Amino acid sequence: ARKRDGKNGMLVFDASMLDTARERHEMEQNIEAGLKEDWFEAYLQPIVDLSDGRIAGFEALMRLNHPDKGILPPARIIGIAEETGTIARIGERVLEKAIGHLARLTQLEGTETTYLAVNFSPLQFEQTLPHKLAALLLKHHISPARIVIEITEAVLMLDNPDVHAVLKQLSEFGCRIALDDFGTGYSSLSYLNRFPVDIVKVDQSFTRSLTTGTADIRRKSRMLIKGIRTISHQMGCTVVAEGIETKEQWELLRKLGLDFGQGYLFSRPMPIENMLLMLEMESEAKVTTRA
Ligand code: C2E
Ligand code: MG
Ligand code: MG
Ligand code: MG
Repeated sequence: ARKRDGKNGMLVFDASMLDTARERHEMEQNIEAGLKEDWFEAYLQPIVDLSDGRIAGFEALMRLNHPDKGILPPARIIGIAEETGTIARIGERVLEKAIGHLARLTQLEGTETTYLAVNFSPLQFEQTLPHKLAALLLKHHISPARIVIEITEAVLMLDNPDVHAVLKQLSEFGCRIALDDFGTGYSSLSYLNRFPVDIVKVDQSFTRSLTTGTADIRRKSRMLIKGIRTISHQMGCTVVAEGIETKEQWELLRKLGLDFGQGYLFSRPMPIENMLLMLEMESEAKVTTRA
């Protein structure tokens, strides 16, 4: 590798940059192979009603199941896939899988009305999306009312009329729109006014700061969450807390009036087979208690 210093505005190449480039290239190859060989999966994490812990829905979370490298989480995949444009194909694949999973889950007793939340990248909001989604739902006999489209501010910040039109169509079709990672961006509040948002997902950093740090930080966190809850409810949105890891956090969030929650306390994201097993075991346990 050539190495120069940064004087006179020249680029500096060093080993770490080479590593990054190599890593990046490797990830691009993983993505291409994953699409070709069908390695992309939709893991599921339950979203529970905070009042009683019952499952209200599931969030689909992308995983690349590489035969040699194991399970690759989305963090490193998504950025690269957005830059190269493969995110649209990945997203479509994950959506297909996730809706197939919801159809399987629905065959269990008591899951008929559970919903499925799917994360969408800004690049997925092309004109064909509502049609593609409708076709998938029809194929699996699932009502659009059971689908939640999770977007982040990044989607709304594009300020692209086509994106807005697609969001509006999806909303009119009966899907719900969730604003993900709420509270971490620049102007989340104003988006509640301008877009058809139904669900606010309070970022996990708020949940964490409820039970870590000084008493003052914890008190202020409670006030922030309460404020977000009040505004969201007044705008007609339900509120979901992310990243619940302890009973104490669950109890606090319930007392603060949040509606739903998800986190490792209830369940980690898992493959559909494990989720089916877990739900079957739970319903058997209930039958045994009743008998
Ligand atoms: P997100 O949508 O905010 O999803 C929540 C993330 O928090 C997930 O990470 C989940 O595994 C993790 N999580 C859940 N409960 C807990 C907890 O109790 N503690 C902690 N520390 N973490 C928890 P994951 O699966 O690595 O996904 C990261 C992000 O990648 C997602 O954040 C979402 O923005 C994006 N993503 C995931 N799947 C997709 C997809 O299919 N398409 C697109 N465009 N983005 C996706
Ligand atoms: Mg999400
Ligand atoms: Mg989130
Ligand atoms: Mg998040």
